[in-house]
Amino acid sequence: MNVLVVGGAGYIGSHCVRQLILAGHKPVVLDNLVFGHRGALAPSIHLYEHNLGDEAAVTRILRDEKIEAVMHFAAYAYVGESVNDPLKYYFNNVVATLHLLHAMLAVGVNKFIFSSTCATYGIPTQMPIVETMPQAPINPYGQTKLDIENALKSISRAKGLSFATFRYFNAAGAAEDGSIGEAHDPETHLIPLAIDAATGKRPPLQIFGIDYPTPDGTCLRDYVHVDDLSRAHIAVFDKLNQPGTGLFYNLGTGRPTSVYEVIRAVEKATGRKVPYTTAPRRAGDPPALFADSSKAVKELGWTIKFPDIDAIVATAWAWHSSRPEGYR
Ligand code: UDP
Repeated sequence: MNVLVVGGAGYIGSHCVRQLILAGHKPVVLDNLVFGHRGALAPSIHLYEHNLGDEAAVTRILRDEKIEAVMHFAAYAYVGESVNDPLKYYFNNVVATLHLLHAMLAVGVNKFIFSSTCATYGIPTQMPIVETMPQAPINPYGQTKLDIENALKSISRAKGLSFATFRYFNAAGAAEDGSIGEAHDPETHLIPLAIDAATGKRPPLQIFGIDYPTPDGTCLRDYVHVDDLSRAHIAVFDKLNQPGTGLFYNLGTGRPTSVYEVIRAVEKATGRKVPYTTAPRRAGDPPALFADSSKAVKELGWTIKFPDIDAIVATAWAWHSSRPEGYR
């Protein structure tokens, strides 16, 4: 299929572009390169540098490239920033996405795959999380993702759009050959910060909270490999042929992993100690978040190639050790 990957030069988007090519599809990328990197894409990939809310540009691309499906990864995703600057998040994550959808409907492209997040569940009362649990986000970032999920339901009913929404848990790792990987600026994620602490590139890691009601006192998260995530986006294509289809899937391994366990995995992969200090809890961090992804496994035949944290961190280390400066 001809697929427009919006945000395809970003972390998850660029891994998905590679998986699309491996599966025999033809991706083209729309990315304004605010957070994306040209270097995350093979030179042969056609990159359009526009904002996703630029309807005239998007309409032209959809027509010229004979696009059949759109994957949308382009969002602002810093929780703390979303609390301090909610308008930025509503304009980009909601308003611009509505423009993208408007352009798609105008041209008759009616398959849409959307990056959502476990942050739409807020602080769930039960673990693991299943898709049918109530969604009550506790920050504007999660709210903007839920707003689009809800908009998609209405648009699908009214206009026959077929869509799949994937609620990611903690995307992690890198391409197995170390050629592309995670390069955020600023970086706030645990695994890259722990790796950089081990190599001395950054100061010691701060562990945000050691007094949580968990076995070792640190937060539990569900780290899922970025290539495993990407493959689910392609496996869903066959389900989108019936107009008006609306699908929702959690994507996680289902394994809760603590901050200390991540540190041990980084020490194993790098062969170095991770220096750390303990710090107060970070605002808005639930003690535990992990997925029941059996729906994706059952309905999409989704398989998890990297089920445990050691395997995931080994790929992250392959990337960070071969490209310590990222895409610079
Ligand atoms: N974390 C930490 N120190 C850091 C960054 C993260 O202790 O410098 C913890 C954070 O509190 C959470 C887990 O690591 O429990 C994963 O955080 P991350 O920001 O990677 O992802 P999130 O779960 O917030 O999406």
